[in-house]
Amino acid sequence: MLTMPGGPAAYHVLAKPTGPICNLDCEYCFFLSKEMLYPGDRFRMADDLLETYIQQLLESHRTPEVTVAWQGGEPTMMGLDFFRRAMVVIDKYRKPGQHISHTIQTNGILINDDWASFFKENDFLVGISVDGTKDLHDMYRVDKRGQGSFDRVMRGFDALKARDVDVNVLCTVHAGNVDHALKVYRFFRDDMGVRFIQFIPIVERVTETLLPLANRGWGTERGELRPLYIQQGHHVTDRTVDAERFGRFLTTIFDEWVRTDIGEVFVQHFDTALANWHGEPGAVCVFSETCGLAVALEHNGDLYSCDHYVEPDYLLGNIKDTPMIELVASAQQIEFGLAKRDSLPAFCLTCEVRFACHGGCPKNRFIQTPDGEDGLNYLCAGYKIFFNHVDRPMRMMSDLLRANRAPSELSAILAGEEAARFADVGRNDACPCSSGRKYKKCHGATTSS
Ligand code: SF4
Ligand code: SF4
Repeated sequence: MLTMPGGPAAYHVLAKPTGPICNLDCEYCFFLSKEMLYPGDRFRMADDLLETYIQQLLESHRTPEVTVAWQGGEPTMMGLDFFRRAMVVIDKYRKPGQHISHTIQTNGILINDDWASFFKENDFLVGISVDGTKDLHDMYRVDKRGQGSFDRVMRGFDALKARDVDVNVLCTVHAGNVDHALKVYRFFRDDMGVRFIQFIPIVERVTETLLPLANRGWGTERGELRPLYIQQGHHVTDRTVDAERFGRFLTTIFDEWVRTDIGEVFVQHFDTALANWHGEPGAVCVFSETCGLAVALEHNGDLYSCDHYVEPDYLLGNIKDTPMIELVASAQQIEFGLAKRDSLPAFCLTCEVRFACHGGCPKNRFIQTPDGEDGLNYLCAGYKIFFNHVDRPMRMMSDLLRANRAPSELSAILAGEEAARFADVGRNDACPCSSGRKYKKCHGATTSS
């Protein structure tokens, strides 16, 4: 039996005080269907469970840093007083020298000045879900009546901005916005003025039987009962992002970021890649060798292996019956985390970018390798495109770090290289950028008369 004596020094819990309940009905959100796991439930974390959870979390951490992370569903549906009570409980159980980071992931709908003031006073990092400009966002992020949510989300965002709250934009990348990489990125950077951006690819895996129903969305509020989403099947919904296009989405944004925004805008995929190129542990489980240290806590105390595996087979236990640290350190959970590494197909084991990719998240490993082995990640083609594309700039940034220089110096180095490449090109020569066009019709268009 695998064990972890004393448990890990630190671990991450996504606490879902309203379970999967949300005030929106985003079509791709299969988390909504998890309501079916608890039929008839009110889906509200009780105060005694809040206290049990915080006490266990703070007492079991042996690191000075502890993150208290709220997620949903939509956690703000608990009301502000719940979070005020949470702060009191955290103060009660905080150990001497312990520093607490507060995070919350929200759709922004309920955020007003009261919420924003609370987040500012308590130094929260607020993740807000936006899928790009209004037309792109409203494709799938709709309410119970099927109406787009963009305008209400922006009102919430403006309230956060007015109070100078730290904000991280979480953008899902799906069939609707994947071909608009720069429009999405520039909207976040220039119009919203955010500095922290996370991209999450939408991959909705389904069986052939469920596909027609799943294509209509995962909510339960529009009169039809939906199936419970579980990791089964070899089909994907129409909303699911195409793997290669996802890779190009990332490379397109990377090419802009690397020229102007290093050190100014933080894109989680790029930060994590740099950590892997630099030989340091990245912060993202998806691109780590193993996982298992990020568990999900349901509103009733049930603890699951991961937020993506809130399914009966991955229930570790209830923290009212078994201390959370024992569940995190259990053989079941350790095996779950090691399986990420140990179940890789041979195709990944010999892959040139495995050190950066590690096969991605197991939840998306449901396609076959070119030689017919099961267990390849649905996003593999995109990962190969992205990680191969960033190889040279990542190596250069890592070298800069080793020389105690800022990675942002890379922008000037690349600009110098580009100027040298174009210096002696004649107007009628092929453009050095490999576009296939003449220089005067391509990069030379602005300088040639
Ligand atoms: S299953 Fe995926 S999302 Fe969950 S911890 Fe592992 S890598 Fe992360
Ligand atoms: S890029 Fe593809 S083959 Fe390489 S490690 Fe990732 S999933 Fe495996």
